[in-house]
Amino acid sequence: MTTIFAKIIRGEIPADIVYQDDLVTAFRDINPAAPTHILIVPNKIIPTVNDLTADDEKVAGHMLFVAKIIAEQEGIASDGYRLIINCNQHGGQEVFHLHMHLMGGRPLGPMIVRR
Ligand code: AMP
Repeated sequence: MTTIFAKIIRGEIPADIVYQDDLVTAFRDINPAAPTHILIVPNKIIPTVNDLTADDEKVAGHMLFVAKIIAEQEGIASDGYRLIINCNQHGGQEVFHLHMHLMGGRPLGPMIVRR
């Protein structure tokens, strides 16, 4: 099984990679919703949050820690930012390779549209 993000991680398709280590890769979203919009992705394919196992606790926590590092790198840490992980249909997940959106660079407004 592969995913478009796995191809980016392996360098098979281009992306603007801002951070990479042995557990995660982060690159700019191709269709940004904010001035800073970066995806933080485990190097290992985990399709959704539902597929996390106890063995994935380290990588899952590392995604959050790397978000903090990148927010500092991007100069948005003190103003603030938003981290989002979409899961399955109701979450609006489009790419089935776990990823955390890091968005900032302007006030982002309400978290979701209230109905
Ligand atoms: P989600 O809806 O949470 O699955 O988000 C998927 C995100 O991946 C969207 O924001 C897309 O714009 C982004 N995306 C899809 N393909 C690429 C790509 N080749 N490079 C960078 N971002 C991508």
